[in-house]
Amino acid sequence: MKAFEKNIRKVEPYVPGEQPGRRVIKLNTNENPYPPAPGVQKAMEQISPDKLRMYPDPTASVLVDSLAEYYGVNKDQVFVGVGSDDVLSMCFLTFFNSEKPILFPDITYSFYKVWADLYRIPYICPKLMDDFRIRKEDYYQENGGVIFPNPNAPTGIYEGLEFVEDIIAHNQDVIVIVDEAYIDFAGKSALELIDKYENLIVVQTFSKSRSMAGMRIGYAISNPTLIKYLNDAKYSFNSYTMNQAALVCGAEAVKDKVYFEETVQKIVETRAWSVEQFKELGFKCLDSQANFIFVMHPEYDAKEMFEALKKEDIYVRFWGSERIEQYMRVTVGTREEMEALFAFLRRYIKGE
Ligand code: PMP
Repeated sequence: MKAFEKNIRKVEPYVPGEQPGRRVIKLNTNENPYPPAPGVQKAMEQISPDKLRMYPDPTASVLVDSLAEYYGVNKDQVFVGVGSDDVLSMCFLTFFNSEKPILFPDITYSFYKVWADLYRIPYICPKLMDDFRIRKEDYYQENGGVIFPNPNAPTGIYEGLEFVEDIIAHNQDVIVIVDEAYIDFAGKSALELIDKYENLIVVQTFSKSRSMAGMRIGYAISNPTLIKYLNDAKYSFNSYTMNQAALVCGAEAVKDKVYFEETVQKIVETRAWSVEQFKELGFKCLDSQANFIFVMHPEYDAKEMFEALKKEDIYVRFWGSERIEQYMRVTVGTREEMEALFAFLRRYIKGE
């Protein structure tokens, strides 16, 4: 090792799902199979070259205003960023600054560990219970902050608002971040609690329910005090400033409530249908409230199945890590995409 290498921050990188760059049945990164709201395409076509010539509005007001209106909060309660990954990373950097370890589940979104390592934040990861649920009492121990997704990833398991509130209420001396990337496919959001708890931040994204993963738009909603801390930190990192196209297209997407609700509904229906299909084939499915299903087959090896699917140009996600060696995560696609998946699985399992 060279002398200077000892000063380098080394992390085990997050390994994203493959983007094969050609048309496949892509059920591996929880993208939405439907296009964004029709107004988004129009908004994109109407961006004037002059707008592109200039720097974007650093306060992102067009998008912040539309989100504030949509959620019925004040503008100073909304923070936007380049995907919820950047919003979350900024939250880690800004709010997790204690010598005490932060808490997040063992089996959750794997970026949390990367940011904690990169920013030198100590952490403890309580294991999920045998049924893959979070044990809320694990989050009552002393800590420097708490983050968990609801629904959790990659399990898809959603916990109700009472459960979430118990964790927040037990941690009022630290910041609690609820990562709601998949909340629109599930139940009540912790946004209902932001007026009640000053230590709560809720983070959401346009990547899943709003079909805009490629635009990179995420946001945090909280009280003005915490949002100001995030903005103060953000302005020192110009890379966190959102581009002009994302600002106007994001604002446009928020306006179309009907399209949004219809799209979410289609995915929720396809999810229910897909769970039935999986079960008929002998798979065990966790109770997902997200736009993906976490499945295992007691008689078939997950890695082999994952490879066989890939040969058919059907991409799902497989990690092979401890406790989830036999699980695959399958994004809910269109009904046609799911039919193609099940046609293959029927051949694979039943030889049909
Ligand atoms: N949180 C969770 C739990 C996720 O699964 C993802 C998507 N991989 C994100 C946050 C980040 O999504 P994005 O940066 O696209 O908003």
